[in-house]
Amino acid sequence: MKCDSCGFEENARYFNVLACDFTKQARECPKCHASFFRTNIELIEEREELAKKLTMQLVNAIGSKDIEQARKYIDELDLLNIQINNPELAKFTELIKKRLT
Ligand SMILES: [Zn+2]
Repeated sequence: MKCDSCGFEENARYFNVLACDFTKQARECPKCHASFFRTNIELIEEREELAKKLTMQLVNAIGSKDIEQARKYIDELDLLNIQINNPELAKFTELIKKRLT
């Protein structure tokens, strides 16, 4: 998620939810404390984009045998998947976890 005011970019969970309804959420930037709106569709798209990005980083970390970094990406993906609930992604992280142990 990216702040509209200062451009600060971080995982959406660092942005406090100020208010929400069925269609949108007001979020607060942890850096400049500006508030901005995101529609729920935009939020889902952002999470799916992030999941794709993290999956690629995870594959790269495994490729370069950086196990510690790979575990961090798996944790991030598992947290993200609580929200996007993608069964394919859950299977994928389970498989990687088994391989890493
Ligand atoms: Zn900001």
